[in-house]
Amino acid sequence: MTDFLEMPIHLNTDRRILHVDMDAFYAQIEMRDNPSYRNVPLILAHDPRKTGGRGVVATANYLARELGVHSAMSAAEAVKLAPHAVFVTPDFPKYRDVSRQLHQIFKRYTQKIEPIAFDEAYLDITQMSSNHRKAVALAHELQQVIYDELDLTSSVGLSFNKFLAKLASEHNKPSGITIINEEDIRPFLDKLPIQDIRGVGTKTAEQMIKLGINTGADLFATSQSDLANTFGKSGYAFYEHIRGVDNRPVMWQRERKSLGKERTYGPFLDTEQAILDELKSLAQQLADILIKERLHGKTLVLKLRDSDFNTETRRETIIDFLPNDEQEIYRIAQDIFEGLGGYQKPIRLLGLTMTNLAALSFENIVLNLYE
Ligand SMILES: [Mg+2]
Repeated sequence: MTDFLEMPIHLNTDRRILHVDMDAFYAQIEMRDNPSYRNVPLILAHDPRKTGGRGVVATANYLARELGVHSAMSAAEAVKLAPHAVFVTPDFPKYRDVSRQLHQIFKRYTQKIEPIAFDEAYLDITQMSSNHRKAVALAHELQQVIYDELDLTSSVGLSFNKFLAKLASEHNKPSGITIINEEDIRPFLDKLPIQDIRGVGTKTAEQMIKLGINTGADLFATSQSDLANTFGKSGYAFYEHIRGVDNRPVMWQRERKSLGKERTYGPFLDTEQAILDELKSLAQQLADILIKERLHGKTLVLKLRDSDFNTETRRETIIDFLPNDEQEIYRIAQDIFEGLGGYQKPIRLLGLTMTNLAALSFENIVLNLYE
């Protein structure tokens, strides 16, 4: 037994956090748009009988789930469980558009939105709901507005932190609204299997089960010193989580209109090649910063200032989002530059800016599932 200093815990109940999770999102969109899919097991994946068995299930409707099909399962396994299911190849651009419509609705209520996936987000509604009663009303209204405008059902969880809000939304699917107040923490957490507690991974779960900690109630009954001695720093975290404590903020981003890089040159750039080399370097920096900020854009703006202080800006917009790829950005920058007539006079300033920006975060998560 090492020396132990008991750390007090503090449950912050001041915030009001929603977790909104669309029900079987892709499947629901396909069922909405195609009535013949509504009463059959529907699996969103390439049909493995046509791809030679490859592919992964993106999602499945509730009828297919009843047969044991779930997302991230191989499509070949899904076809064994549900041989009569309809397979539909996912249409990610469509789901992305619906996701954008969903976010437009969220934005009417709060800017503090943290997207987790196409169909899932945390919303911090502390400021727009001055008390608990208003927060509950807002949760109901939001769910109703999503249904009225998008014709899609969602499950909503409301609590005072992200951990509990997510547990709440998972509690009653589909179309549920679940609220976890302070007095609900024990009933909710006590019956949870240990691996569902925030921060408990597969390995830790195995370790806990060996120690006889199988449920939330078992974890709650374990002393802080025992947890700290066995699991080190994580032990303190488990001690907090099982008491419903989670102080992580909702990670929202102020909406950015544009992101750019510019440089002034002395001596001036006095050959076409020198200018193109600099554009290449700016394109690389711009791609890096877009990736870092998890944004992408549709419009590239080139700014040039010549030795006589004449400034020119010219933009090019493309239909879809430009990949955050230095070669692609450079190619368009070069296009714009050539469109301005190429080299005319020595250049003292060059700038590249991306506008028409949108968040990249949720697209990446989804697309990775799909080779
Ligand atoms: Mg969902």
